[in-house]
Amino acid sequence: MKIAVVGTGYVGLVTGTCFAETGNNVTCVDIDKSKVEKLSSGQITIYEPGLEKLFLRNQKEGRLTFTTSLDEGVKDAAIIFLALPTPPGEDGSADLKYILGVASDLGKILTSYKVIVDKSTVPVGTADKVHAAIAKNAKTEFDVVSNPEFLREGVAVDDFMKPDRVVIGTTSDRAKKLMNDLYAPFVRQGNPILFMDEKSAELTKYAANSFLATKITFMNEIAQLCERLGADVDMVRRGIGSDERIGKRFLFPGIGYGGSCFPKDVQALAKSSKEAKYDFKILDAVMDVNEKQKLHLLPKIKSYFNNNLKGKKIALWGLAFKPNTDDIREAPALYIIDELLAAGATITTFDPEAMNNVKQIVGDKITFAKSQYDALIDADALVIATEWSEFRTPEFEKITSLLKNKVIFDGRNLFDLSLMQELGFHYESVGRKAITKA
Ligand code: NAD
Repeated sequence: MKIAVVGTGYVGLVTGTCFAETGNNVTCVDIDKSKVEKLSSGQITIYEPGLEKLFLRNQKEGRLTFTTSLDEGVKDAAIIFLALPTPPGEDGSADLKYILGVASDLGKILTSYKVIVDKSTVPVGTADKVHAAIAKNAKTEFDVVSNPEFLREGVAVDDFMKPDRVVIGTTSDRAKKLMNDLYAPFVRQGNPILFMDEKSAELTKYAANSFLATKITFMNEIAQLCERLGADVDMVRRGIGSDERIGKRFLFPGIGYGGSCFPKDVQALAKSSKEAKYDFKILDAVMDVNEKQKLHLLPKIKSYFNNNLKGKKIALWGLAFKPNTDDIREAPALYIIDELLAAGATITTFDPEAMNNVKQIVGDKITFAKSQYDALIDADALVIATEWSEFRTPEFEKITSLLKNKVIFDGRNLFDLSLMQELGFHYESVGRKAITKA
């Protein structure tokens, strides 16, 4: 099948590459000329495990091409995916200007039947708006389908190739057949393709992300309570996670959720609810708690240094909003950096993949180290913001010899409390007792 993917970011590039991998001919369209040039010359533009190999193979075999021209990209395609940004507008609602702009352009250039698919996360009713924007100029028949994407950055290729489910919102039989044929190779193990109406599909994506954000936030609140009552959140997590109605996943407390999806999707659902005159109370609480949680370590750090961080050198491990990605959108580390700098500290950081992206934002306000250990040289304390696996079992002897003080503030609960005690660290984490030096 011939496919076009408009918007070649995290979702678009993974989508395009994975559809090419199952034998389709894919053209990815992006307005960013330098991105298209890089991709066309075989350079991958994002870090995503396993993606580069598939990208290079399919490009070499001629099934994956890139262009800045919407016209050229979509002309032979049977299905056109829109994987465009839907950032929060000023009032928190999803800004549809990219989607509706492209929809309007499509109306002018389509000359034969096409299926236009919203892959972006969009509020309920967007498929109708996209339909109207295309219809304004359209000279041909077309269908608009909602097909929200559930991939997780860091495991995006696996998620796309073996999805738990594929959600397809359409009431058109013609579109349904094409979408079913396209996705059949991805669900051979029997995971479902769930056909439903467009609105239910649109809401499914927001409901999924908001539920997961709520689950994390609930555990962050339990962690807060543990600290006040002297309980251990790790024990509570295991205690409740073994109940299969609750499940083990997404119960790890930390310094808040970030990324390009949860924050904006919870916000957008809250806004949609208000517009629908429904007071969705949990969502407001989730947003409020998460904002505070991002800075959970700050009072602990300040209190350790007697509220005086002037001239203190802090080593910061981890910048990405989660491991295995270079994505720093809404990353808790960025909030910690701002607060530490404002309090007069200096920061040396290391992240395996996200340093270039952070450099573009903070420039030379902080120092970027060559390795996780270089970041520790002469630092007064280590702060951990992302649970990259290389941070999980570090060489503690090296940490001890490089840090000025044996002090760790861990926003991801990476280390065992008894080990920290045994090694003589001052160690504070989330929802667990503080280990203080005797
Ligand atoms: P992104 O910012 O990484 O990529 C968007 C791309 O669209 C960019 O390359 C940009 O240059 C391009 N673009 C903007 N305007 C364009 C235009 N007029 N024509 C062509 N290209 C244009 O965004 P993303 O993370 O891939 O997210 C895309 C959508 O998918 C969002 O709605 C997001 O909520 C949703 N989503 C994201 C993820 C994720 O993990 N990133 C997961 C599921 C769903």
